[in-house]
Amino acid sequence: FSTDNCFNEFTPPSLFDPKLKAILRANENPYGPPPLAAKAFQDDVFSGNRYAWETLTNLVNIIAKKENVTPEQILMAPGSSDVLEKVAMVFFQKGGDVISADPSYMSLMQVSQSVGGKWKSYKLLPDSQHDLDAMEAGIDANTKLVYICNPNNPTGSITDAKKLKEFCSRVSEKVPVFVDEAYIELSDNGIKDSMVDLVSAGKNVMIARTFSKIHGMAGLRIGYLLGSEATIESINRVTRGGMGLTGPSIMAATTSLQHDEFLTMSKTKIAEARAYTQAYLTKNNFAFLPSQTNFIIFEIPMDGKEFLDKIYEKQVAVRAFTFWDKNWCRVSMGTMEEMALFTMAMDEIFA
Ligand code: PLP
Repeated sequence: FSTDNCFNEFTPPSLFDPKLKAILRANENPYGPPPLAAKAFQDDVFSGNRYAWETLTNLVNIIAKKENVTPEQILMAPGSSDVLEKVAMVFFQKGGDVISADPSYMSLMQVSQSVGGKWKSYKLLPDSQHDLDAMEAGIDANTKLVYICNPNNPTGSITDAKKLKEFCSRVSEKVPVFVDEAYIELSDNGIKDSMVDLVSAGKNVMIARTFSKIHGMAGLRIGYLLGSEATIESINRVTRGGMGLTGPSIMAATTSLQHDEFLTMSKTKIAEARAYTQAYLTKNNFAFLPSQTNFIIFEIPMDGKEFLDKIYEKQVAVRAFTFWDKNWCRVSMGTMEEMALFTMAMDEIFA
């Protein structure tokens, strides 16, 4: 394993450039928020003088039914970022190691390290799946938590659900396993590949979910953690789950959970954009990793900073990373119009 930071991310030239025409840098959903959810958000603003405990309890009950867990197994939060950070703070207060893939989504590892934890990273396999055997072999007396992001960010790749379930089932007998499923609804098998039934079965497994991706509500800030009642209680003892939520966001999430049409439409359109982008990359000989998410990462034959400067000049915003001694661009799936602007910019940069 290595304890080095797995990737270097280049700083984009400007985060708030009003001239940007295609914003493809944060894996957001270009179709959200669902109109009915936006309406519910607006209507609830007038109840903003009150704490939203009642509507929050209602939402927790709806989620409990959907996920087949008890309400006590749910921690609500303003986005799954909050859940990742809370778990890191609570689990690593006294140090210890966190095991994850390299590269992966760094939020939990960064906060763990900042409070005294140590990161042990395991390079993804050549087919971009988690190296579960190596990760399991790496568990020792110092290991406090295993973090699995599935599908993984920034690679977009998915790890076989059957193998992952066996791994989580076995490993959680020794240490807690945290599975970040921010993109699971967008994967080919969708929620069927979730590890949530291990939570219902009483395993020491946590699942993070978000309304930021398939529900199209990144700016409304809502997500949650599923875990054992004891785990949720141990986090609630230190921090107050649910206190960071706003009433309107709760109503938007409640509404979105009751209307599947938006989710189906999002998944279909995102898949179209992905097929279009993959066809473009194939035709132009850019090597990309297989994606089951709303983003694709591909190799660029150019320094990441230089590439970002060039593509931002064309008013297209993406991300650039280096890992495995290569330069990469990660592009999020926008509307077809945005994807056309992206491919046009690519044609011009690599003409
Ligand atoms: N987990 C993963 C894998 C992500 O990619 C992201 C955001 O891009 C998050 C968690 C955090 O999302 P949010 O805080 O909006 O739920």
